[in-house]
Formats: sequence, structure tokens, C-alpha cells
Amino acid sequence: MKKLITLMLAAVTLLGCEVKKPHYESVDEYPVKAGRVQEMYYSPKATEFVLWSPNADSVRLNLYESAESAQPIRSEWLKRQADGAWTINLKGDMQGKFYAFRVYDPLLKYAPEETPGIFAVAVGVNGHRGAIIDMRQTDPEGWADDVRPAMERQADAIIYELHHRDFSIHPSSGVTNRGKFLALTEHGTVSPQGLATGIDHLKQLGVTHVQILPSYDYGSIDETRLDDNRYNWGYDPVNYNVPEGGYSTDPYNPEVRIREFKQMIQALHDAGIRVILDVVYNHTYDVSHSNFEQTVPGYFYRTREDGSLGNASGCGNETASERPMMHKFMLESIRWWVEEYHIDGFRFDLMAIHDVQTMNDIRAMLDEIDPTILLYGEGWAAETPLLDEALRPIKANCTKMPGIGAFSDEMRDALRGPFYDDHVGAFLAGLKGNEQSIRFGIVGAIEHPEVDMSKVNYSDKPWALQPTQLISYVSCHDDMMLTDRLRASVKPLKGNVIDDAELMRLDMLAQTVVLTSQGLPFLWNGEELMRDKKGVHNSYCSPDSINAIDWNLKARNQRLFDYYAGLIALRKAHPAFRLGDAELVREHLEFIDSPDCTVAFRLKNHAGGDEWEDIVVIFNANRQAAKVNLPTDNTYTAVVMLGEVNPQSLPAEWTTIRGAALVPAQSALILHN
Ligand code: CA
Repeated sequence: MKKLITLMLAAVTLLGCEVKKPHYESVDEYPVKAGRVQEMYYSPKATEFVLWSPNADSVRLNLYESAESAQPIRSEWLKRQADGAWTINLKGDMQGKFYAFRVYDPLLKYAPEETPGIFAVAVGVNGHRGAIIDMRQTDPEGWADDVRPAMERQADAIIYELHHRDFSIHPSSGVTNRGKFLALTEHGTVSPQGLATGIDHLKQLGVTHVQILPSYDYGSIDETRLDDNRYNWGYDPVNYNVPEGGYSTDPYNPEVRIREFKQMIQALHDAGIRVILDVVYNHTYDVSHSNFEQTVPGYFYRTREDGSLGNASGCGNETASERPMMHKFMLESIRWWVEEYHIDGFRFDLMAIHDVQTMNDIRAMLDEIDPTILLYGEGWAAETPLLDEALRPIKANCTKMPGIGAFSDEMRDALRGPFYDDHVGAFLAGLKGNEQSIRFGIVGAIEHPEVDMSKVNYSDKPWALQPTQLISYVSCHDDMMLTDRLRASVKPLKGNVIDDAELMRLDMLAQTVVLTSQGLPFLWNGEELMRDKKGVHNSYCSPDSINAIDWNLKARNQRLFDYYAGLIALRKAHPAFRLGDAELVREHLEFIDSPDCTVAFRLKNHAGGDEWEDIVVIFNANRQAAKVNLPTDNTYTAVVMLGEVNPQSLPAEWTTIRGAALVPAQSALILHN
């Protein structure tokens, strides 16, 4: 009998039917899975499941009729493979069914829970279970013909950040699918005063890219209670490779969110607008219930020597991109969004938590697909990551990451004031000492002989190889809106707060700096309408009453909107403002001596092949006019003056300037000859 069993075991081993669990001293010894990370592969004949979990003792797959049914209709043990994966192939057409894995791993400190795995591509309501669907059936009509809108160079980008709910939830948006992906597919929507809203508004404004706040499946909104109208930014990832259900018209049907997300991309592409996804691989909603921890415990998060979790995200955990399977996961996830959803760019939340190598590998992969796909992120973390500083994708390491950009807090804070106190102002508040930091932003954080690094805030040396590595901005979803910040930090001449006329002047001045600088300009939704968030600093879960854009503002502040649109058109028409190359910036951009609390520069000799030979840009944040000597004896014509672009309403004797320019208080002046 014993002999027979031995023979049988030998036969099993010979046939490769049984792989024994190896002993691992640490998670660093885990084998890297061959092939893709995706875990469910559907065909009408069979559905294959492949889950990577090297240290598991066993893995079970439960099949369900719905995303919420209590009892599985079928339950199967998976089979261990040599590369750490577990597999099973279910014959027959499984379309429409739901699934979840249960992983039994001795390293799991928590009770094993069901998980859809780390790479579900379709899920049921709230993302607890994976869904078996045919991805091709989610493609909207014409999807095969969807292409990226033309863009020659990254330097041509003008980015507009938006939150689905901010943008369209207010009744004044005139949108039918308010707060949904589909809102961005609706043309012809108008405000109560008949002015364009929604996607038509974006077209009118002229931006080339929208950067949408987290739109993958996140955890803070209960998708079964959407009528509660809860709000969240969504920086709490659950399923990284599935659109969020709360922005779909039916979170229960797994195909709907996917199809509607694609319809949104398609509509934006048709409108000539590219789409950037805000990706948050740096942390998850929580750890104990997370798909990462429930699939491969102890692997995806960084821990200290005492076993406690790193917390560079400030949200209780930080992921470990330097581990081969996290690295592979991130690359495949990015590829998934590009290939399946036609995404055109990525904004990495707290990018500095990842590692330089991973970011460079993502860039290389994207370059193979399309080098105009944008890649940038926050070159900082909330707390210090558990990784050597030299390896971190911080701003200072951008020189090791060609083609990858970072937000510039130098320019932002030199304009509006420091991040640590909303009530402290800077250049816009008429305070001197910020001029060199603004110069640093204008050149795009590259080396430039006329930027005095000893006077630049935060950075002591240039951090960009190319100006396109710098994201120029004065506000984003984080912190106060520009309007709130100006009200909080600019000392009024009378009363408690500056008046709306001064507010608009400063708003215009701030965005003129952003839109004439050599980095990639970035605007936050609603700034062009002068919306505010009632002074709320961190509105990540504030109600719609704080976050929603009231489109009645468009008629009230039409002058501001026209100014933004005019500046964007000016930038698009004049390559001098977007040279895209450090050598060209050093050759053609020179600063002009000017009084305190002003910054002046010149783009000379037909910069970038510009039709204008010489362009002079002057920012004056003083409450009185400033005199600046012009660099040549030529006669210049004003194209931006007193809050107007192409100021035809102003008398010609004002707009024709020779010798010296008198720049009105709190305004930008742009001249050319
Ligand atoms: Ca969700």
C-alpha cells in the first residue's frame, strides 16, 4: 500500500499537478509572477482566474449570482503554480456572474475576508466583488475610432483640474447627469443666463487637458446610498483599475460605469480635450480590509523594523513601489488605463512616496505608446517615506527623471503665500522678496543665469532639466481657492476684506503669471468664474454647498472668464510662451530690472519661431503703478493691459508704448513689437 501511494505521488509530481509551498524567509523572496497581473480572463467558453499569492496555504474562489447575494453558487479551491500564482479555469459562459477570492495566508494578521483581488477590471456595487464581463461589450459606439486629440509637444498642454461633482452638481449647470461621468458628454448646456456650461464651457475656455480628480473605484462614498448626496475627493483607493461607481448612473451593473467612463473620454476627445487621470498608488483606504493585504499580506506596504506601517501618505499607510510586484502592478495599471480607456496623462498623488526607478519605467513604457502622454506628480509626501531620499521621486530628483514633471510650490507660494498659514500673503499681497521665486517658476525650474537661487524659497538649486517638468499653478483642489486665499491674506485698504474689484485684479495677475510661464500651466475648476469655497481650507468631504460651482457666477464674472480664455488663446498662438526646451529658454528669455514687487521679462528674437520679434511681460503687484524701462528703443503695442487681452476698448495712445512702461497697479502688462 505504502509503495502504491509513493508511486502515485511520484506520478502526480511528474505530471506537474502539485507544487509544494516553498519556505520564504521574508516577503522579499517571493517570486515575481509571470505574465500579467490581471486576475480574471473571460471568454464565452471559459473564464480563467489567476491570483498571485505566493505564501498562501490555500486560495478559494466563490462565485455569486449577484454582487450582494449571501451564498455562493459555486466554490472552488485554486491550484498553486510555481510563480506564486493560483489558478483555476471554469468551463462554460460565466458572463454576468460575480466572484471573490479568500486567501488563507499565515502572515495575515486579520480575519481572511473576501477580496476581488488586486487587479479586478470590473466590480459590483461598492467594489467588494469582481464581475465577470466581456470588456468589449462595454465599448460605446465608435470607440474603436476614438483617438487622442492632436498634440505635437508636451509644452503645448494647458491643464484644467476638475472634480465631477464640483463641475456639474449645481442645478445652475443645466446638466442632466449632474455629478456623473456623463455630465461631460452633454453639449448645449447653459447657465440660467444662457452662458455655456459643462464641456462647451471647457471648449470655450480653450484648455487642452482636463485632469479629473480620482475616478477609480474609491471607498468613501457608499454606492448603495447615492441619494445621500455625499461628497468626497476620492483619495481613498479600493479598486485601482475600475471606474468609481458613484459617478455612474447605475453602480450595480458593472458594465455601466465602464461604458459611461469611456463615453466621457470619447466626448472629451471629440471636443479636442485630452484626459489626465489622478492616480493614487501611494496608499489605500485602509490596510486590514484592503485588497493588497487580503491578497498578499505584508507585501504591498512599507513597514518599519518593529513591524509598524509607514505613513508617508498621512493616511495610515504607504505602499512599496520598490517591491517587484508593486512595481509591476503600477506599470500594468497605467497601461490598462491607457489601452482600455485611452487615457492621455497621469498625475501621481504624493509621487515622492514611490521610487525613481518605477517612475522612469512608467515613462519609458508610455514613451513607447505615445511620448506626448503626460506624466507628473506631487514631488513631496505628507510624512517622510521609508525609502532613501536619493531613490525618492521628489522635486530635487526630477533631474534623474527626464519627461516626468512636478508641481512647483516655489511659484505657487511666492504668489499666494506659504502653505502652512492661509493668512500669510506674498507677492499678490504686495509683499516684496518673492521676485526670485517667481522668476524660478517663470523659467520652469531650470538653470538660468538671471535667477538668484539664494533668494528662491524651498529649492536651493534648479530641479528641472526641461521647463515642461514644472507644473505652474497658483491653486488646485488642495488648500483654499485663490479667491478665499486672497481674501484671507491680502490686507484690505478699508473694511475687513478686499473688495471684489481688487480680488479680480489680483486673480487676473496671478493667472497671467501661470499662463505666460515656461512650465505647463495648470488651473483649478471654477477659478475662471471667481468661485470660492467659503474659506474652507480642506474641502475633501465638505458638502456640495461648499464645493459645487454655481454657474450663475459666469455671467457675474464674465470679464474674468474672457480674460482667462484670452490668455489661453494668446499662449496657444505664441510659441514664445511655451519654448519647451531649456536651451531655448536660456537663449530667448531674459529678465528686465524692475522695482520691488514687480517681475518683468522679455522673450526676444522671435523666441520659438514666434511671429513677434520681442515680447515684454511685466507683473506689478503693488497698489500703485510701477515704471519699468523697456529693453529697446522700439515702439511696443500692448496685448494685455488692465485686465483685457487685445484691449481694443482702450485708447491707442495708452496701448502704444515707447521708452518706459507705466504698469497700472495690481496688473499684468504684455507688450510686443
Ligand atoms: Ca466606490
